[in-house]
Amino acid sequence: MKRVGKIALVFAAAMLVASPAMAAKKIRWKLAMTWSSTLTPLASPAPKLAKMVSEMTGGNFEIRVEGSEKHKAPLGILDMVKGGQYEMGHTASYYWKGKDITSVFFTTVPFGMTSAEQNAWLYYDEGMVLQQKTYDKFNVYSFPGGNTSVQMGGWFRKEIKSVDDLKGLKMRIPGLAGEVFAKLGVNVTNIPPGELYTALDRGTIDALEWVGPGMDIKMGFHKVAPFYYAGWHEPASDMQFLINKREFDKLPVEYQTALNTAMKAVSADMYSENFDASARAWAKMKEEFPNIKVKIFPQDVLKAMKAATDEVMEGYAAENADFKEVYDSQKAYMAKAREWTKMSTQYYLQTSEMVAE
Ligand code: CA
Repeated sequence: MKRVGKIALVFAAAMLVASPAMAAKKIRWKLAMTWSSTLTPLASPAPKLAKMVSEMTGGNFEIRVEGSEKHKAPLGILDMVKGGQYEMGHTASYYWKGKDITSVFFTTVPFGMTSAEQNAWLYYDEGMVLQQKTYDKFNVYSFPGGNTSVQMGGWFRKEIKSVDDLKGLKMRIPGLAGEVFAKLGVNVTNIPPGELYTALDRGTIDALEWVGPGMDIKMGFHKVAPFYYAGWHEPASDMQFLINKREFDKLPVEYQTALNTAMKAVSADMYSENFDASARAWAKMKEEFPNIKVKIFPQDVLKAMKAATDEVMEGYAAENADFKEVYDSQKAYMAKAREWTKMSTQYYLQTSEMVAE
């Protein structure tokens, strides 16, 4: 008893010393999101992170989250975090394609990894190290910030039956996939999100890709373009937390751990939130608009897309050693991981189908 009492006393004394030191460290940060504050689930991780970090630090580390409606620079996040106007950002790596083409791998690439494969590559293979190598050039830290999993290939007003049907097709499809489609004769355009529905409705464009049912339903595309194609171009879109290096390095280690823990928690949470939103939205869409036809592109069209993707990727790899390093790492990981994905997920789904009512 006596000994336990003594240990308790020493422990209590240590707490007395530790507590005021922790309480003294008040940190106030700002975080800018690419998304408007209402664009859930993309806009969900940052406010949840801020709440968690505040609670984990007894209110000492506060992060004020600003949506694009406030800072008006949705595609300026990397510059603003690098410059220190914001200590943190929530965005997607492939928006920095024009600054560094290697950034695309940390969101998703056409015919690339599934979200399970990509998470494993990031957290347990070379992914995070290669990601940081890329972002060291900007003097910021980059962390995964939620994943949409596979995105749908988009809404088309007409069915795509052959490669010829892609020629002259006017489509909104950004990023590497846009480059791939351009090679196949698609007239790739970029239109602000707010104008997309009208453009599709009036025939200014013939097709567009957005995300998946959970986010697409709010845009109303299903009301004007009945063909909903399965994805190929964004199999596992990861969001991204960016942090100014100087500011992160200055944090007490317990605050760094709180931030790291919260980032990982809200990333996993966004995946679940988006999955749930898509499952619900699809059930509703299918019931209200029974004419929607879910399609997989014909095999010859897919083969043409794959060949064009390889050409685009190998073109970048030939001229950029950093790009090649990440491309090779993802290819090597996929060669192992895809086998397991098939044996586990795909075969399980086949197994379930065999006993489906
Ligand atoms: Ca998309």
